[in-house]
Amino acid sequence: MKKVTTHVAILGAGTAGLNARRAAEKAGKSAVMIDPGPYGTTCARVGCMPSKLLIAAAEVAHTAHTADMFGVRVESMKVDGKAVMDRVKRERDRFTGFVLESIDEHLEAGRLIKGRGRFTAPNVITVDDHTEVHFETAVIATGSSPFVPPPFRDLGDVMIDNEGLFDWDDLPQSALVVGTGVIGLELGQALHRLGVRTSLIGIDGLIGPLSDPKVKEVAQKVFEDELDFRNDYQFESIEELEDGGVILRADGREDRYDTVLMAAGRVPNVRNLGLEEVFGWDTRNLPTVDPRIGQIGESHVFIAGDVTNDRPLLHEASDEGRLAGANAATWPEITARPRRAPLGIIFSDPQIAMVGKSFREACDAGFCWGEVDYSRQGRARVNGKNKGWVRVYGSCEDGTLIGAEMFGPHVEHTAHLLAWAIQQRMTVHDILTMPFYHPVVEEGIRTALQSLRSRLHLPEVPNGCKELIESS
Ligand SMILES: Cc1cc2nc3c(=O)[nH]c(=O)nc-3n(C[C@H](O)[C@H](O)[C@H](O)COP(=O)(O)OP(=O)(O)OC[C@H]3O[C@@H](n4cnc5c(N)ncnc54)[C@H](O)[C@@H]3O)c2cc1C
Repeated sequence: MKKVTTHVAILGAGTAGLNARRAAEKAGKSAVMIDPGPYGTTCARVGCMPSKLLIAAAEVAHTAHTADMFGVRVESMKVDGKAVMDRVKRERDRFTGFVLESIDEHLEAGRLIKGRGRFTAPNVITVDDHTEVHFETAVIATGSSPFVPPPFRDLGDVMIDNEGLFDWDDLPQSALVVGTGVIGLELGQALHRLGVRTSLIGIDGLIGPLSDPKVKEVAQKVFEDELDFRNDYQFESIEELEDGGVILRADGREDRYDTVLMAAGRVPNVRNLGLEEVFGWDTRNLPTVDPRIGQIGESHVFIAGDVTNDRPLLHEASDEGRLAGANAATWPEITARPRRAPLGIIFSDPQIAMVGKSFREACDAGFCWGEVDYSRQGRARVNGKNKGWVRVYGSCEDGTLIGAEMFGPHVEHTAHLLAWAIQQRMTVHDILTMPFYHPVVEEGIRTALQSLRSRLHLPEVPNGCKELIESS
């Protein structure tokens, strides 16, 4: 067995792991990453980037389909599935190419060891059966994997996940997309708009991360109007067919699909890392991690990225990687760093955004709220994109903006403005002194903030809020 010695050992060479390595080295310590591949990061290879490429194609198809509304006749339109997937993969390969260049350098320099790692002693990680890495501190940055709910676990090749989808050479005729969370909404709607007969099914009334009953109600109607969207479906059975498809029996219906796309959430990759055997940690309930430090309990092991199961987003994985790497390098001296204001965007159409505290979280604190109905918003109507509802939440005590749940046209942009205002602890009055051009969709946010301002003198709504959640 080969023996390697380093100050910081990092399990995983994805976004969090790569950033942890850079931070440890910047702090003057040696660092070695361990990863079996495939390399290129989940985000660039099978996550953020290829999903947005597929959505971009779907948006073009949707624009052509809805051109009639403007008096523009698109006489014939054909989605060429092979060309769609070709562009998705070509552009995706360009993005991963940048990462792979640095990965090659790391492999050559011995900063990355190829293989699956597991703790075999408090200061040793064994990589497959070929290398022992001896270290002072470690960072776990192993990411997450798709969760497969029980009714689907026996399916064979007919079932794929986001990795399989971005290997397609052509689009299928039909797809059953399981999961109405973030990934299911994005990919399911995109496939539908690209002409794939798609059913998007889920449980518990889930629509991405939305928790505000009013925003959810509007989103529910929009998705139901557009496609076969059933986020409270009643499962009966699923049967894999000899010709490669499946039949789903649910809600008293029987439907055949060419493929099943599993998008029912993701689980952190904490199993088989030796955490139970070496540290005595229960992997379903790891010791507390202070997200401003990234340390697991009081140990010399740090954790970063999707594996924390906290904020599974690219920019958070980068921040957490840097934080964990820097603290692993200086441990037992550690520094707590403030987190950015929470910001999550779902690239459905209309888009969904969660900023600062969600409705559910605001409920615990007590809050005042304001709202805007995007069906009447000027610029949104001009563009024929007037669907959606946004609620903003503020502290009734000091008038600061504390959060928002957004469902509306291009809220990716307005969500950033609100996130910046929340991080700056701006009051609603302060924000309303900022310029708003005319006519822009941002004026909708001004309407919501004005409606919040008019309610700031009212009592907080914690109790009613709980009832609303229960009834939603
Ligand atoms: C379809 C999809 C769309 C997404 N869209 C967005 C988006 O639009 N915006 C956004 O912000 N986020 C998005 N995300 C989330 C984003 O991709 C992740 O938050 C981010 O990639 C997580 O980075 P990470 O470093 O934690 O994990 P990863 O990049 O997955 O890296 C983990 C690494 O650990 C390695 N590993 C696993 N086990 C071991 C082991 N035992 N030993 C050694 N190495 C191991 C893996 O091989 C992998 O290379 C999306 C995700 C998906 C799946």
